[in-house]
This record gives sequence, structure tokens and C-alpha cells, in this order.
Amino acid sequence: MKYFAVITILLISLALVLTNFVFTKKDTDTAEIPGSEFSETVTVSETAATEPEEDENIDNKWAMFLVNKNNPLPKDYDNMIETEVVFESWREYYLDVRAADYLERMIDDAKEDGVDLLVVSAYRTIEYQQQNFDNSVQDRMDNRGMSYDDAYADTLAEVALPGESEHNAGLALDIMCEEYQSMDDDGFENTDAFRWLDEHAAEYGFILRYPKGKQDVTGIIYEPWHYRFVGLYYANEIKKSGLCLEEYFEEQGWLDENGKAIKMRGPFEEQEKKQEETSTVSTAATEPKETMPKMPYSEQQVSIIV
Ligand SMILES: [Zn+2]
Repeated sequence: MKYFAVITILLISLALVLTNFVFTKKDTDTAEIPGSEFSETVTVSETAATEPEEDENIDNKWAMFLVNKNNPLPKDYDNMIETEVVFESWREYYLDVRAADYLERMIDDAKEDGVDLLVVSAYRTIEYQQQNFDNSVQDRMDNRGMSYDDAYADTLAEVALPGESEHNAGLALDIMCEEYQSMDDDGFENTDAFRWLDEHAAEYGFILRYPKGKQDVTGIIYEPWHYRFVGLYYANEIKKSGLCLEEYFEEQGWLDENGKAIKMRGPFEEQEKKQEETSTVSTAATEPKETMPKMPYSEQQVSIIV
């Protein structure tokens, strides 16, 4: 009986030691592995939070730059990009080759959902925009009796200066549908095409560039038809934020006090690098040319705003 008691105590002790050992071992394992994973995760997200423009995981960062009155494109931007046909109706429409696939996929997927998207404007060369601007000025002088200065100011309120329109960047599209093609009002927002774009455009890297209620910031009226490619990452971030592109740049600290981009400057940086290489000095600002047009503005097929 005495031996039995001793053996029992020994067995219980042994069991306790073993149990303790196993649990300690297990705790150590579980504590170490997720711990190291966690510290890695923290490092990555901290890097992404401080310098998103340097995060290599962000797609199509080249497409994330501002084009507006404060950030006109370099004068020779027409020669800096390669474009390709992305849509054909009564004419061909071009886009920067790097964004072309995204648009084609968006149009195909919309079609599968029963929505026919209709591209009505895409890439416009700076040269074309210049001609259009000049024609508009001339038309006001010829047909409304305005002086050059008045005609220029009046045109400026309606037509983007060459290099200041996103269409000049080859990254913007005006998209409508068969049932509704008027840009005189914002009625396009009541179509299935708009509802589809509103829900899905960001999945293909496009944002609604001139949203409702942002005219004071963008300088452009609400345009439910105008979409801009900025890449998947930024399209989703901007959509989530509810900000327009200028506000997003501002929030990230990428603008100076005059609204000029100091970070994420895309083609401007490319151009500066090129200039440094060739050591030539030229201005990036786009000045309106004094040349007068041949064809009256009113006779052109399309009137262009932005
Ligand atoms: Zn547009």
C-alpha cells in the first residue's frame, strides 16, 4: 500500500512535469512565430503610410499626376507618349497605350453586364486643343464683335487652354451611352451606363474626375461623363476617400500653396530629367499662341470643354 502511494505520487509528478514541458514548448512556439510575422507587417505598412509614392507595390504610379490650370502639361507632351486606338464609332479614339487595356476590359465587362459604354472623346493633341482654342477666340471676334482680349477671356471660361485639359494627357475619356449623349446638362447621371461606371470604374483604374459639388476645387463643372485613369490603387483610394483629385493631392501633401504639384509630378519629372541630360533650358508652361485659325469655331463638328 505504501509502495502504491509512492508510485502514484511519482507518476503524478512525472505527468505534471511532462504536461508543463509540453505546454511551455507550445507557448514558446506560438509566441515566436506570429510575433515575427507581426513585426514584419508593421514595418511594411509603416513604410507605405509615410511614402506611398515610393511603394513599389502600387500599380501604374506613372499615371498619377495632376493636369489642370496650375499644372499644365509640358509643351511637347504629344511627343512624350505613345497612343493607340481604343474605340471606334464614326471616328477612332486614342488613349495612352499603357492605359488602353484597362479601358478595353472595362468596356467588355460592362457589355457583359448589359451596358454599352460609348466613348465620345478621348486623347486630344495639344496642337488640336490649341487650334480649337484659337478658333473659339476668332469666332467671338468675327461673330460677336468682341475685342481680342474680351474674346480670349470669354473663351477661357469655356475652353481649356492647350496642355491644361486631361484629354491632352491621353488618360481621360468622355463616356456616354446611346440613349444619352448631351453634355449641356448632367442628365447622363440618370442612365444605367453612369450607374455602372460609378460602381465599377475604380476596378479598372478610372475615377470620376469632376464630381458633383467640387467645382470650386476643380474649376470644372460636374461632368458625370469624364473619367481619368490613375491606376487601380489610387482609383480605389480616391473613391474610398470621397475626395476629388486636387483634394487627394492636397491631403497627401503633394501640392504647394499655389496648387502646383511638388510630388507625383509624372511627366514633369521625366521632362526635367531629360533637360538635365541635354542641359537645355525651356519653360514647361503652356502659353497661348497668337496664331489665328482658319476654320470658324461654329463650323467645327465638336465643341470641346474638358
Ligand atoms: Zn472630358
